[in-house]
Amino acid sequence: MFRTHSQPLVSAPAETAVLALLLAEGPLSRVELARRTGLSSTAVTKAARPLIDDGYLYELPPERTAPGAGRPVNPLAVAPDREFFIGLKISSDQLFGAVCDLRAGIRTTAARPLERCTPDAVAPLAAELVGELLDAEPVFRDRTRHLGVAVNGDVDRAAGLLRHSGLLGWRDVPLAAQLATATGLAVTVENDVRALTVAEHWFGEGIGTDYFALVTIGAGIGSALVVGGQLLTGAHGVSGEVGHLCVDPAGPPCRCGARGCVEAIASTDAILTALREASGKPRLTFDAAVALARGGDPVARAAFARAGQAIGVGIANLVNLVGPERVVVSGEGADAYDLFSRHIQTAYAAHAFGAAARCTLSLRPLPWEEWARGGAAVAIQALFPRYAASSTVATGR
Ligand SMILES: [Zn+2]
Repeated sequence: MFRTHSQPLVSAPAETAVLALLLAEGPLSRVELARRTGLSSTAVTKAARPLIDDGYLYELPPERTAPGAGRPVNPLAVAPDREFFIGLKISSDQLFGAVCDLRAGIRTTAARPLERCTPDAVAPLAAELVGELLDAEPVFRDRTRHLGVAVNGDVDRAAGLLRHSGLLGWRDVPLAAQLATATGLAVTVENDVRALTVAEHWFGEGIGTDYFALVTIGAGIGSALVVGGQLLTGAHGVSGEVGHLCVDPAGPPCRCGARGCVEAIASTDAILTALREASGKPRLTFDAAVALARGGDPVARAAFARAGQAIGVGIANLVNLVGPERVVVSGEGADAYDLFSRHIQTAYAAHAFGAAARCTLSLRPLPWEEWARGGAAVAIQALFPRYAASSTVATGR
């Protein structure tokens, strides 16, 4: 049913443009597709034909664009159930998985505790989890060929290589090849925050934006940037690191070796460290810190306020440099949003420059399913030639 196991779905530029636009913003009429892609209507019709024949696209019933307006048009839409994608998030103590449809809609999820956080332990467990996900509905096994993996650290997506992850303690792991062998699927590996940004840019709040940023808050402060419609990689693999923008040169030391980075002030550990020192309670937990702040404790409230301020200033710096249309702020630390959201917004508004301040901030929590969905979004990208999966098994499924 698939052209081949690992081949991208589209190859010609016209097909690529039509499919990409319909995935994110469909249904759209052929006229609208032509206008948006710059193709002729004939070229759009020709590009859509094989995708309709393959069941990826279908025509909606005819609709008139306006009363009395010419002949009715049949908008084109993506058939979300035509193919499914598995997304996997590897954390230090859990594997999270999700099956998503063509438009990154989550269809089912599953998780497994990770007893030992080593690549050797992850591969068989990933195979088990993928098996469980594929067994959830008969149609999943027939129509799934791509796995996208979201993982903390420095990832070379094209090579399928995890270069280094401080959180997992891994270095130079050929993760895509290992997981392709273990699962039989075509595998793409991406940094977790970048994967989340892909999901948000293609299928979430970033749809249709050329300049977009996502910031995650929690144990670390992660971020990724979309510039000119593309995820920014940077010449050396580092770009848009909000977490390591300096907001106070005399501030606390950061794990990166510098001082006063946003992360050194606003990560959950940083908040806790500051509060333990200020309150003289060395065994205070983060949950207790949140409870204290919510109860009105001025020292605890000040620690969260400082964190929110650092995040807001960091985001303003990023916005002043790049000028995104929208920034999404999300993360595990989001449970405590009520404690710093106001400070993030206030500091952002105070430091955003001129028209750049028109960029809106959306703050919201980040359940683990979203990380797995990020993996699936990266897998969906493998349908396009420029994002072809980095590792496949020779035999195919
Ligand atoms: Zn730092």
